[in-house]
Amino acid sequence: MKYCKTCLQPDTRPNSVFHNDGICPACKYHASLKEVNWDERKKELLKIVEFGRANNRSGYDCIIGVSGGKDSLRQALFVKEILKMRPLLVSLGYPPEQVTERGVQNISNMISHGFDCITINPAPGIWKDLKRKGFKQYTNSFRSTELALFSSVPKLAIAYQIPLIWWGENSALQVGETAIMGKSGSDGNNLRKMNTLNGGDITWLLSDEIKKNQILQYCYPSPEEMEQANLRITFLGYFWKDWSLLNNGIYSILRGLDIRDEKPWEIGDPYGITSLDEDFVTFNQMIKYLKYGFGRITDYVNEDIRNGIMTREDGVQLVKKYDGTCSPKYIEKFANYIGITVEEFWEQVDQSVNSELFEKIGLGKYKPKFVVGVGL
Ligand SMILES: [Zn+2]
Repeated sequence: MKYCKTCLQPDTRPNSVFHNDGICPACKYHASLKEVNWDERKKELLKIVEFGRANNRSGYDCIIGVSGGKDSLRQALFVKEILKMRPLLVSLGYPPEQVTERGVQNISNMISHGFDCITINPAPGIWKDLKRKGFKQYTNSFRSTELALFSSVPKLAIAYQIPLIWWGENSALQVGETAIMGKSGSDGNNLRKMNTLNGGDITWLLSDEIKKNQILQYCYPSPEEMEQANLRITFLGYFWKDWSLLNNGIYSILRGLDIRDEKPWEIGDPYGITSLDEDFVTFNQMIKYLKYGFGRITDYVNEDIRNGIMTREDGVQLVKKYDGTCSPKYIEKFANYIGITVEEFWEQVDQSVNSELFEKIGLGKYKPKFVVGVGL
């Protein structure tokens, strides 16, 4: 395991390859922003806006997948107020057992800014069965969730004949997940290649109990369907100079976003601005840490280092202290939710812990063998 020379990204991120000079793709991209001709990029954006307007057959120019969180609120307002488009918002609702009160409030806050929003709620029983299956099979209970999250928007776009979809971040550029890179930095038509979507494969969800017609909301449209609908997925983050978790958070807090008040060690988030609508992502980030040696704090710190608001040395201290932490109450809540004990939870996690990176020192306790910022 090696670290990027400028930030704290280890080379263990799936689908990401460092350059020969030891710099991660995200740092390379960030450095390249200084050379961007932003006037040219704005022209490119306005052409896409024109495409949306010209192909408006339903009354909506475009569609935006939203959670009510910091990124989606900023995007929705940008599209409506700066681009002067008429968007339809689509939100995938978590089941009642999973959604937080804060998440519900944030969606209400977003709609109150003047939007039409359709909420899709997949059946809670099957949702739970699939989360249990993803956890037992991949130690990733979000594999099915992400399929539903990413599929619901293009499905609805096709149904409503809306050919333009805005997504936020291009993780190929901004995080370094190069597999999803499209024809240009704004092109999101390769999103299906994301690590967790795995080409939109749903075969692992099927069983004697669960048939395809029960999981329609998890089925990503085929490339043929998307082409027939002339569907264009575009990353809005590509057109913003200041896209970052923190900037989007500040913008949205000023417009009514309610954020978390837990301690950083409970949620693995120094600012309390991510996953406001549910609690399970937090332990999933902890599992990511145990699989790859980095979690959510690393992602935050890396952005702050690149933006020049944190030194690499200060970042190392934060990552050492909080990366991979999660309050036991969220683990217990999830174990109860899928009907297993906390011991069974850890037995499952144990199978996925990267033994090259961690030494087991007890049930649910692991000591890193690597040194943050230095490597193995
Ligand atoms: Zn880097």
